[in-house]
Amino acid sequence: MVNPFLEDGVWLKSALHTHTTLSDGSLPPDRLVQAYVDAGFDLVSITDHWRLAEPAPRDDVVLLPGAELGFDMLSPLYPRQSAEFLVYGLDHIPDNPGGNRDNWFFHDGENYEVRTFASLTSGMDWVSTMNAVAYVAHPYWNHLSQEELTSMSGYAGIEVFNGSSESECGRGDSTPWWDTLLGQGRQVFGIATDDQHYPLTDLGLAWTMLRVTERTPQAALEALRTGAAYFSEGPSLHEIVDAEGGIEVACSPARSVLVQAQEEWGTSVNAGRAGRRQGRILEQDGDGLITRAFVETPDDLRFRRVTVVDSGGRRAWSNPL
Ligand SMILES: [Zn+2]
Repeated sequence: MVNPFLEDGVWLKSALHTHTTLSDGSLPPDRLVQAYVDAGFDLVSITDHWRLAEPAPRDDVVLLPGAELGFDMLSPLYPRQSAEFLVYGLDHIPDNPGGNRDNWFFHDGENYEVRTFASLTSGMDWVSTMNAVAYVAHPYWNHLSQEELTSMSGYAGIEVFNGSSESECGRGDSTPWWDTLLGQGRQVFGIATDDQHYPLTDLGLAWTMLRVTERTPQAALEALRTGAAYFSEGPSLHEIVDAEGGIEVACSPARSVLVQAQEEWGTSVNAGRAGRRQGRILEQDGDGLITRAFVETPDDLRFRRVTVVDSGGRRAWSNPL
């Protein structure tokens, strides 16, 4: 797998799950793009429900075409329950995606439409016809079973962290779904998003950093396809190096640096006098927080990924190394 920290290029701070007045968001597309530019973002993908937004091109931000589409679940828990995926690099919305029409509806009050593909895999078949890239949206929030996710294929990754789901009901963290897939040996990547509907409360709750060699939608799409990314609700990752006997991580000040692997495997280095250390702190700031650490870890594990936790409990996640 690519290690984006060792690749030439620049990082694009990317908003990959956002809604506008074309569906249930509250700002029109061009104003939303401006709001993200003002907040320091380098890339915006507007992902309205079953609508393709076309914001005016501009040269100070990369605009990646996107949408949030749905699929029939294998075992819905209530009538008309469906789940969703985010697709990037698409050029149209399908009129008839082929799913169960009993699950389709238009919500007048919130101005969004739901249509469905017959399954996640059939949605991915459609995505592949355009050479687009898809990530399964908020599996925890949708209560998409891990069995369903593992039985389906064709998606590049999942939305590991959704800031709106987290702030709304504490169900934004889908790392257990991710670890299940990775533990089975699947190469599946992650993104974090704010799932922005109301910019005052949502915008910037979480984001994805894409490593690209040029500031173009094509390069961003390639980073999403190959996992050349890390994602965060606060901390920054500066460097991750696979070293002898472990992994060296440089980051913004953190209280914990963890390496997580399959099942119950994982190790960590923690700040503080009594902090557990499976490895060592190499550099710290004036408050004793970690800015560089070596975390011991065997290299024969099925996968290894890094999580950094800052003093406020906010996390940043690497893709599997
Ligand atoms: Zn959404």
